[in-house]
Amino acid sequence: MVVNCEEVWREVSNYLDGEVEPTLRVAIEDHIRGCTRCAAVVNGTRNVIELYGDERMLEVPLGYSQRLHRRLDQNMPSSRRSFLGWMVAAAAACLVVGTLEVARSSTFREPELRSEHAQPGSGVPPDMMVVVSEDGKLFHRAGCEFIHEKNKLRTVTAAEASREGYAPCVRCMRKYLVKA
Ligand SMILES: [Zn+2]
Ligand SMILES: [Zn+2]
Repeated sequence: MVVNCEEVWREVSNYLDGEVEPTLRVAIEDHIRGCTRCAAVVNGTRNVIELYGDERMLEVPLGYSQRLHRRLDQNMPSSRRSFLGWMVAAAAACLVVGTLEVARSSTFREPELRSEHAQPGSGVPPDMMVVVSEDGKLFHRAGCEFIHEKNKLRTVTAAEASREGYAPCVRCMRKYLVKA
């Protein structure tokens, strides 16, 4: 018996619960050995299931924990038809828990605002002529080697570029972006 990737994904939660036929189990194991993508899916799913079964992970404010349980229960394999939806919900729940863990940690200071000093236009002379590309997100000094999409370039002032949502290129604008 040989299974393809989609069959592995469809059966992964059954497989991890030991609820597949022995021949299918062998076929899935064979497939995983040769398919890194499915091996990752199986390992990831196993982690989610183990986390879900591990109450220590749910050491979060009580009300939240109950809500999380309910949410997971709703999506748990009782209705295996939406396995992917369950995976997404479980992954989202893990992310939320992870965020709470981080937020509670006393060593956690200054959330990721490090990019603040690279806010659009900060420190760049507003009337300096800069180059933006249609599909890019950054503005550059003319001739910057990190300009991509060279065929769709426009020259505007730094102020205009900022107004249009472009951020300064950290390579060629570095000297303007040094934190005061
Ligand atoms: Zn595969
Ligand atoms: Zn640049």
